[in-house]
Amino acid sequence: MSAPPRAVELGLVGCTVCGQVCRAPGPLAQAACPRCGAVLRRRKAGSLARSWAFLIAAFIFYIPANLLPIMRTVSLGDVDDNTILSGVVELWVKGSPDLAVIVFAASIMVPMLKFVVLATLLVCAQRRSRWAQVQRARLYRLVDLIGYWSMLDVFVVSLLTALVRFGFFSEVEPLPGVIYFGLTVILTMLASMSFDPRLTWDTDKDAP
Ligand SMILES: [Zn+2]
Repeated sequence: MSAPPRAVELGLVGCTVCGQVCRAPGPLAQAACPRCGAVLRRRKAGSLARSWAFLIAAFIFYIPANLLPIMRTVSLGDVDDNTILSGVVELWVKGSPDLAVIVFAASIMVPMLKFVVLATLLVCAQRRSRWAQVQRARLYRLVDLIGYWSMLDVFVVSLLTALVRFGFFSEVEPLPGVIYFGLTVILTMLASMSFDPRLTWDTDKDAP
């Protein structure tokens, strides 16, 4: 099966602002979209470097997010500072395994999955690898979709508040770990937004 021609081979470039497909005349830095006037670019400028920077920063913040206590629970006069993991264990032990699973998925599995997938996409794009391109394109769409689901953490916080109401704990108080966790979520979203998924298909040496 021969691959369909690529825009770069046909001398075409899509405007990133209005979507107009334009002829690419000469050096692209000087070319502007005839419809909206935006600068025409084949790929997001500095996509790989920015994406790496956001991803590494996210990973750095993820360490204190896990090591520092994320919430203080007070139940029957017992004050307890919990990290994400000990919070999961506590929920499990206190007879709320379904909640424990949700918190585990939202706070540990999803961020880990994002780190691994984004790093894989970046390494492959950097090496102009032809390995599993279709699957990589799918993985990018998955990470992009998960971005919206980062709101799941807000959902977890509201669930915890509900737990207080129902008397599981008499008080739940957020601790500094939450700030680092929030920063991790935001930075991984920025990392996935900075990545240009078209890089997955740039395998030729002469590609842009
Ligand atoms: Zn345009």
